[in-house]
Amino acid sequence: MHVLRGHGQITEINVAETTKEIRRALLDADVNFKIAKEFTNTVKEKAIGQNVLTTLQPGQLLTKIVKDELTQLMGGEAEGVDLQGSPAVILMSGLQGSGKTTFSGKLANFLKSKKTKNPLLVACDVYRPAAIDQLHVVGDQIGVPVFSDKEVKDPVQLAKAGVAHAKQNGHNVVIIDTAGRLAVDEQMMTEISNIRDAVSPGEILFVVDAMTGQDAVNTAKAFNDVLDFDGVVLTKLDGDTRGGAAISIKSVVDKPIKFIGTGEKMEAIDVFHPSRMADRILG
Ligand code: GDP
Repeated sequence: MHVLRGHGQITEINVAETTKEIRRALLDADVNFKIAKEFTNTVKEKAIGQNVLTTLQPGQLLTKIVKDELTQLMGGEAEGVDLQGSPAVILMSGLQGSGKTTFSGKLANFLKSKKTKNPLLVACDVYRPAAIDQLHVVGDQIGVPVFSDKEVKDPVQLAKAGVAHAKQNGHNVVIIDTAGRLAVDEQMMTEISNIRDAVSPGEILFVVDAMTGQDAVNTAKAFNDVLDFDGVVLTKLDGDTRGGAAISIKSVVDKPIKFIGTGEKMEAIDVFHPSRMADRILG
């Protein structure tokens, strides 16, 4: 953000110019308009109130204020997933195509690399046999077993059977991949909340494609209203998207973003770092 590198004092005039630039950068990064406006107002107030007698140049000071505020907005330090419970149950939610199945594999792989974890993947998409096959492909790639049963058409029964299978076979983590649809619909929401009620997951993750911009926020809200999920996974951050959805989602649902997906490979998973995302959003 070149405009912040100028010298001189922080005055109302140059703050006003600068905040306009910040707002533009946020909008370019796909941050919701209202949130971008609120954010720049906060920065403006903080900047004008700052004592310029610091070791930083005014430009640097503004940059720091913007970065700190953005980081804070996205939620402090990265948080892990709840792995208590025997087995610990992690329920994945999200629309079809968001990257749920891929991320289920990535998370299993990530947890498996911590030697004390022995995950089981459970395929609960009873509508698309191809989705079950896909989870098996993923499981084979990372050497993690997959529980599925194409004969069973009740996802609640499948989820319960998956958890029972994990208990019997010494798996201390179960990751349940659920069916997604192309848009939010009532049947999907009822189904996933029934699964939740049946298996009481310690962690419910909502997976969302970072490239879907404003839609990502609406979808997050719809899922959170029903599921009250614990955290967000932002996928496809390897693309051109600047990731403004991170800010919008955090502002709207107030749930931590826990992981990001940065590619199709099983290793393309990262714990979410708010300050790194702030840098990316600011461009
Ligand atoms: P699901 O329908 O929610 O289970 O989504 P999938 O896991 O099948 O993912 C949909 C598509 O997105 C697949 O082609 C994946 O390879 C791809 N995908 C998933 N995560 C990422 C990611 O982080 N980056 C990229 N570039 N592609 C991804």
